[in-house]
Amino acid sequence: MKNFSRRGFLAGVAAFSAAPVLSQPAVQLSVSGDVDVAIVGAGAAGIAAARRVASAGRSYAVFEAGNRIGGRIWTDRGRLGIAHDRGAQRISASGRNPLVALGRLAGVDFYEPAPFRRLYVGQREARDHEYDSFTAALHRASRAITAAGEAGLDLAAARTLPDLGEWQATVAFVLGPLMTSKDLEEVSTVDFARAEEQRDEFACRGGLGQLLAAAAKPVKVELDAPVVRIDTRGRGSITVETSRGSVRANAVIVTVSTNALNAGLIRFEPALPKRTADALAGLALGTRDRLVFQLPGNPFNFGADQRIVFKAADARTVSLVGRVGSADFAYAEFTGRFGREMADAGEAAMLAFVGDLLASHFGADARKEIGRAEAVRWSREPWILGGTSVAAPGSSANRRLLAEPAHDRIFFAGEALHESWYGTVAGAWISGERAADAAIRRLTAASTAQRAVPAQKKR
Ligand SMILES: Cc1cc2nc3c(=O)[nH]c(=O)nc-3n(C[C@H](O)[C@H](O)[C@H](O)COP(=O)(O)OP(=O)(O)OC[C@H]3O[C@@H](n4cnc5c(N)ncnc54)[C@H](O)[C@@H]3O)c2cc1C
Repeated sequence: MKNFSRRGFLAGVAAFSAAPVLSQPAVQLSVSGDVDVAIVGAGAAGIAAARRVASAGRSYAVFEAGNRIGGRIWTDRGRLGIAHDRGAQRISASGRNPLVALGRLAGVDFYEPAPFRRLYVGQREARDHEYDSFTAALHRASRAITAAGEAGLDLAAARTLPDLGEWQATVAFVLGPLMTSKDLEEVSTVDFARAEEQRDEFACRGGLGQLLAAAAKPVKVELDAPVVRIDTRGRGSITVETSRGSVRANAVIVTVSTNALNAGLIRFEPALPKRTADALAGLALGTRDRLVFQLPGNPFNFGADQRIVFKAADARTVSLVGRVGSADFAYAEFTGRFGREMADAGEAAMLAFVGDLLASHFGADARKEIGRAEAVRWSREPWILGGTSVAAPGSSANRRLLAEPAHDRIFFAGEALHESWYGTVAGAWISGERAADAAIRRLTAASTAQRAVPAQKKR
């Protein structure tokens, strides 16, 4: 079995046309008045930001539009009745990932899923020479994109692909939709080159949701409180308006996904500067939706948490992860443009596609092995609207641009902000901490300036 890896093989738009329905419970916010920092969103970035603001002795309020914390980290039983990660399921075990130490302190049960992957060619697993030629093609393609990116040529990654013969479509799928959630035509070479390998990944027994819950324990979050307007027009504090009331803050950290922001779910007054709006547009999320399904008795002999890729003739393909957490279920990941097309077609279409895929690789009876199934469509989660962010060709500077505050007091955070760990939980977490540090520095500078004014007047 070969370990054909770039970024361990996986690190990790159109906006949903209808705006989410705002639930309007009569309950007012439990927080009111003034806070130092308002934080919008309680995913990894929002929780990290809140912890950092609190540890600096500043007051904060976290507003979450949904009825749970975690955002794209979501461990749930769903229709299958087995607790599983519907979004992120692995984190990098690198020493630079602060979540590992935090999880260990909290007693989270990490494990290292088997790293090996399988490649299928028709009705059989690839032979050794096929693994070798596929791996060579994968590395050639990856090197070509990276070389262009490192030379500063910010092009569509697809334009740099060499002739990969029989592996063209499979390699384009692995490096594009599977790794980045977008097709290589929509991926910047420079952004691709900056992405760091996610090696030695950890998963959590019981789901990554446990890790986030442990991290969020000290953090107070207002759930079901979508922020609808952020008003920086006044000279003093900023008004942050939710569907259940408003607070005033001296700084705001926005951790909402780029697609939700691009869809205009929050009204900024005045509007965001053009450079910020353009930066957000160039960092749109791709698609990473799933069909989760039971496979009782492991009929295809999948290894635990094993990723399976199929030799493809075109972009109409998906990857599978088998025996998730050693349980009798698997999921198919619908990524990139094709994934989006299928997700839009609906759960029945996704299930039919998976049935056909299994039948073509494991025999006509394979369809019968599928038990209960459920689609997890992040592209339709009303406050997220997609999978993960990757820069469009020509947009590789956008992450840095977005890290600059808008209107001096609005700080952005989230996976899209991290230059080399974008599309990951660790990247989101670190970006939250950085945005909090920047907001605190801004508050400290403002209060120092205020104290200096009366002192100067006295003299
Ligand atoms: C299917 C899938 C698999 C993935 N697998 C992995 C993996 O294995 N490993 C990995 O490291 N990463 C993975 N990722 C990526 C990872 O999940 C994300 O990078 C990370 O969780 C993003 O965190 P965030 O805080 O930036 O954003 P989010 O998690 O999106 O959090 C933003 C929050 O803001 C809230 N919000 C939106 N609008 C408003 C509003 N107006 N008011 C208030 N709140 C609002 C949302 O409800 C959400 O809770 C995966 C992602 C997907 C979709």
